[in-house]
Amino acid sequence: MRIGHPWVYRSDLAGKQELTPGSLVHIIGEDGRFLASALASSTSQIALRVISTKPLSDSGNVLASLFSERVSAAAEYRRELVADTDAYRVVFSEADQLPGLIIDRYADVFILQALTQATNREDARDAAVSALQIEYGPAISIFERVDPRIRRLEALPEAESNLLYGSETATPFLMNGLTFHFDATAGQKTGAFLDQRENYVATAQYAHGRAMDVFSYHGGFALHLGRVCEQVTGVDVSRAALEHAEKNALANSAQLKCGEIEWIEADAFELLKDYSSQGQQYDTIVLDPPAFAKTKRTVDKALTGYKEINLRALKMLRSGGTLITNSCSHHVSREDFTAMLASAAANADRRVRILETRTQSKDHPIVATIPETEYLKCLICFVD
Ligand code: SAH
Repeated sequence: MRIGHPWVYRSDLAGKQELTPGSLVHIIGEDGRFLASALASSTSQIALRVISTKPLSDSGNVLASLFSERVSAAAEYRRELVADTDAYRVVFSEADQLPGLIIDRYADVFILQALTQATNREDARDAAVSALQIEYGPAISIFERVDPRIRRLEALPEAESNLLYGSETATPFLMNGLTFHFDATAGQKTGAFLDQRENYVATAQYAHGRAMDVFSYHGGFALHLGRVCEQVTGVDVSRAALEHAEKNALANSAQLKCGEIEWIEADAFELLKDYSSQGQQYDTIVLDPPAFAKTKRTVDKALTGYKEINLRALKMLRSGGTLITNSCSHHVSREDFTAMLASAAANADRRVRILETRTQSKDHPIVATIPETEYLKCLICFVD
């Protein structure tokens, strides 16, 4: 266990220890000294996740009160640091000392994900649900999103996504003055990419002219571009995502300087290849692909993918253009990502100056001692 880092791998446990699923246990060092209290998993490679440096016993309502305190502290942190939105991540797992628990807020609809045996304990979950009601009032709804793959990994019984409290599963929400629609029960499992909220605003400061948002999803970047650019195109391979994006655009039409946004259903690799060979030109291009590297082993392949789309985008940008390029793969380091961009710039024979080096918004906190909490890289570049 590294100092301040909250994980103990199964291979680091002394001997063959049986862990009670989801229990609150003490971590004792080889010298017999108490190190921390942790939540145990009987199946995960991460056997123990530290939850406190104090010795806590697994009795009475100890875990419940800890969860309730931590959810309140997380809500308080957002009240201090999050502005211009009623949608944000309220609890971000280890970054809020609640390993395995994620809670997102979309106006009055809260989405809870319990990703470990411990966060699936009834006392822990009930405490989180009650704390949300105390923090945000009794009129909220809380919907649990279940990931069947994670439940299998944690050896938890199968379950369906379900309402834990209240009655709403869909709502409009506001972000930076734009209205978006959220529906927890719609086909796509993900909500909005709340981690890009601050990058949308930063992007709009430099965006201009003819703009393209590649990997647009529900149009997060596209709509922000639409307020400042003459012409905006959003590209995504998913028709359902683009239909949702169009709905979002219609809800904000009065604010869109570009008028209608053009949505293109296409594979981004194909489209960028076609458009760059046709000599299409843009003033602003956003690249925000899904995580190309889900594991360490796939980093090289991911970098090849990133380079291909960045190279094509650079070729398509007019002189004085803006490139906003993103990677949400934790395994691709900031250094690797910047080196990839440098290599694409050299190949395209374009001079790229980095205006802003950015990351995920503050409701997805980065903890100094837990490098895994930092994952998003967003570079805003001036392209000569
Ligand atoms: N920029 C978005 C988030 C993008 S998430 C926002 O700010 O909200 C990644 C998106 O890429 C998803 O919508 C997914 O459908 C899309 N996608 C994945 N592979 C793709 C491909 N090969 N071509 C185009 N879109 C793709």
